[in-house]
This record gives sequence, structure tokens and C-alpha cells, in this order.
Amino acid sequence: MAWHKVRNEYSKLTLLGVTLLILTGLGSVFYYTYHSLRRDMNLITAKQKNVFDVFYQRAKILEVENMVRYADLHLGQDIPAPVNGLDTDYLYGFDLKTQQRFADIPLQYPAANLLNTFRYALSYPEVNNIYTLWNDHRLIGMVADNNVLPAKLASFEMDLMAQPAWYHYFGCADFAPSRTFCSADEAFVSDIEIDSFSMRNTIVMYFPFIHQSGLGSYKYGLLGINISVDEAFRDVLLPFTNINPTRTAVSFNVAEPCRPFHLCLKKSLMRTKAGTDLYLKWSYSWLDFIKLTLHSAAFEIYLIALLLLMVTWKQLYLRLRTLAHTDHLTRLPRRDILNQRLLHEHDYLMILDIDNFKSINDLHGHSIGDAALTAFARYLKGNIRKIDTAIRWGGEEFIVLFRGMGNDDMMSQSAKRLLTRPLQIPELPDPITFSAGVIRIRDYLTVTEAVHMADELLYHVKQHGKHNIACYEGTTIRLIRPLPDEAESA
Ligand code: GH3
Ligand code: MG
Ligand code: MG
Repeated sequence: MAWHKVRNEYSKLTLLGVTLLILTGLGSVFYYTYHSLRRDMNLITAKQKNVFDVFYQRAKILEVENMVRYADLHLGQDIPAPVNGLDTDYLYGFDLKTQQRFADIPLQYPAANLLNTFRYALSYPEVNNIYTLWNDHRLIGMVADNNVLPAKLASFEMDLMAQPAWYHYFGCADFAPSRTFCSADEAFVSDIEIDSFSMRNTIVMYFPFIHQSGLGSYKYGLLGINISVDEAFRDVLLPFTNINPTRTAVSFNVAEPCRPFHLCLKKSLMRTKAGTDLYLKWSYSWLDFIKLTLHSAAFEIYLIALLLLMVTWKQLYLRLRTLAHTDHLTRLPRRDILNQRLLHEHDYLMILDIDNFKSINDLHGHSIGDAALTAFARYLKGNIRKIDTAIRWGGEEFIVLFRGMGNDDMMSQSAKRLLTRPLQIPELPDPITFSAGVIRIRDYLTVTEAVHMADELLYHVKQHGKHNIACYEGTTIRLIRPLPDEAESA
């Protein structure tokens, strides 16, 4: 196949190959980035302690009876006047119907001691608030910070007295109707809501309790623990900077619509005892995802690999091109390098043909013939300048393109020098001679025309005793080395 065809095919293949390579490479890098995000998400969620489990345990430690007994003793009788400006803990009483705070009790020792068990739970920074609701419509709240009021007051609208105690307080009817049995261990876990007092995202865990306060008289109610979401899930909401989601959320909803042009990932984070899953959700805008990918180590490796591959590819291409252009026997370029451009970069074209080459082959064998060809190629290269170009035109024919030859005289001198330097090789008894035709390369000549013209001169030489070089002098043919009879007559 001609080299230019090979090259065309090769260019198309290269373009296709490189495009495919870049695309598959990029695809892999994006895929890898996506998977490392998934892996990081799994790692982060796996490390999370289950806050629901933790607080189920805490709730058992809290003795609600103490709180109830304390409230019974103090509320509604001689309520101490509020003490303002003191950094102290308070016990609050609320009326659920009017939603008014009716008791505001600063806790002094030994009264404060009863809250030690509550403090144990409160020492968790994610706990906002602990309070109880019970069956005389009242709510008492205890807060760690006396500036923060108990939450959920306004939204708790039902009349507790109107509800059958067991159904209500054990959460079976209202909170988990599908469950056949509910125990006091299984707290109702609220959805994530904004606490209207602290304005923070909060999950509330309600623990039912029953307390016998006298003869046949039961106090029953709920103990509420507010857990602030941003504190409890700090690690998953603020993942390390190299993950950097556009948006993070924790939510009980499995399916939350993914925004348009966003990549959404979700993973169940922890489970309540009632079997509800809390999910961690990260979403990336495509721009953020692309930024993340471009900063990843995978992308750096991809770039390096791509660069290496391109360099190798280019080397391979150059090597192939040289190989395709080189005649393997003489190591000279082959005829297909001679194109219009190369032709017109030169001033003279000479076509050379070894004389009686067939007889060399016949008398001494093909391998000696090959040796003669190789020697002739070397001889040509040795007798032309670096700026000239020698080509194996085919068989025992060669073409030399000369550059920087000012005029015909200069060319004649060079041609004469070639003729006067015989090529002798040890394998052959006689020197190897050649016949040649040389023409000036005119602007209007095509490769075919130029070669044809030179060929005609070569034919002339073959007809006139061989071992000579012919050129045009005007329209007449002149031989560089004069024929013996011409020489005599001269
Ligand atoms: P003339 O002086 O008229 O050019 O006679 P010639 O014998 O040189 O010319 P001809 O074209 O008849 O013979 C050329 C021979 O070159 C024929 C072919 O077998 C031989 N030949 C062509 N290529 C190679 C090659 O690569 N190696 C060898 N050993 N011989 C070759
Ligand atoms: Mg020939
Ligand atoms: Mg020949």
C-alpha cells in the first residue's frame, strides 16, 4: 500500500483511537470518582454510632418517677418566684391547653440532685432538651441552658386525657399503628423537624412512662428527648473537604427527588427499633462533581497515562513511517516519498540505472547482485551532499535530487565527478558502472513528467555506450563524458 494511503488510514485511526481513549479514560475517571464517593459514604456511615440505640439506653437510666414526684411536690403549691440573672438550671411547668408556662423553678440542692441522672444524658452535646408530658395536661421541661425553652409545645395539639392511656403512651395507636405490640423500650421517633425555640433541626424521641402516684391513681406520660440533628450527625453532614457535596441531608424519606443536573447518593445511616431507616443523602451538582473529578488523583494518573500513551503513539507512528518509507535492502528511501513538494524543493533530478546488472546477477548470483545494490546505494550517499536526496526508484534504478545547484555548469561538474569515481567492490572483478539522465526541475513539471524526461535521457545513454550521464542543452541532448569518437574529433 502506498504510504500516503497508509498515512490517511493511520490518521483516521489515530483520531478515532485518541478520541476513544480520551472518552473511555475520562469515563473511567468519573466512574472511579463516583465509586470512591460511594466508598467514602459507606465508610462514614459505618463509623456512626446509632444515636437511637444510645438514647434507648439513656432513657432507661432516666427515672421519670423522680421528675414526677418532684413536680407533684412543687408545682401549684408554693411556686418560688423566678430568679433571674442567675446561672442556674430550671424546671419549667407548662399548661398544654393554654401553652402558658406556669412554673419556673430554679433548682437548688438537694432538689438539683434528682436531676443528676438527667444530666448524664444531657452531657451529650446533641441533646437539646429533656421534658415530660403527663396526664394532668401539664408538661415539665428541663433544659440545660436556661435561655432555651422546651420545644414541641405548640405542635402538641391533642388532649392527652381524651386518649386511652396505654394506647397513647405506648405509641401503638398513634405512632406505630401497624405494630401489634409496643413496649416502653421502643420510643416513638419523630420526623426531623425544626425546633421552634432553638430553630434547629431536631429529632424527638418520646419514651412512655407510667407512675403510680397514689391509691389507684396513675400518672402516665411521655418523656421527650430532643436530639439536634446537626450535632448528632456532624460527621456525616460535614464530610471531609475532598468529598465536598453540594448539599448534604439526613432524612427518614427514602425517595427524595434529586434536583435536575444533580448526582444523588444515599445510604441508610441508622435504624430505629420500629424499623424505620434514617438516610444520609449527598447531592452533587454536575459542575461540583466535575470539579471533584478534576482534583482527584485518578485524574492526575489519567493525564500522565494519556501523555505517555500519546508519546509512545507518536514514536510508533514516526518509526512506522520511516520503515514504510525505507527500502529494506539499500536503506534508502523508497519511491513513494517523491511527491510534488519534494520535487520542487530541489533543482535537478537525476535517474541512474546500473549497467548490465542482469549479468551481475547471472554470473555471480543474486546475493552478489544485492551486495552490488547495497554498495551502489552507499556510493551514491557518499558522493552527494547531505542536502541532496537519494531514492531507490526500483530494481537497480535510483533517483538523486540535487539542491542548491545554481546552474547547468555546476550540475555538470557534479555529474562528472560521479562518473570519474568508479565503484569497485571485492565481490566483483569489474567496477560497477551506471548510466544516468539529469534534468533541471522546472516549476511546471510534475513528478511523472520529470521522471519521464530524465528516463528519456537515460535511454539515450543506454543507446550510446552506457556508463555516462546525459542532459539537455537547449533541446539537444549532451553527454557529460564525451564519446570516444567525439573526443577524437574534438
Ligand atoms: P542495462 O545495462 O540495459 O540496464 O541492463 P540491465 O541488465 O542492468 O537491465 P535489466 O533491467 O534488464 O535488468 C535489471 C535486473 O535487475 C533484472 C532484475 O532481476 C534485477 N534486479 C532487480 N531488483 C533486484 C534486487 O533487488 N536484487 C537483485 N539481486 N537483482 C535485482
Ligand atoms: Mg533497469
Ligand atoms: Mg540496468
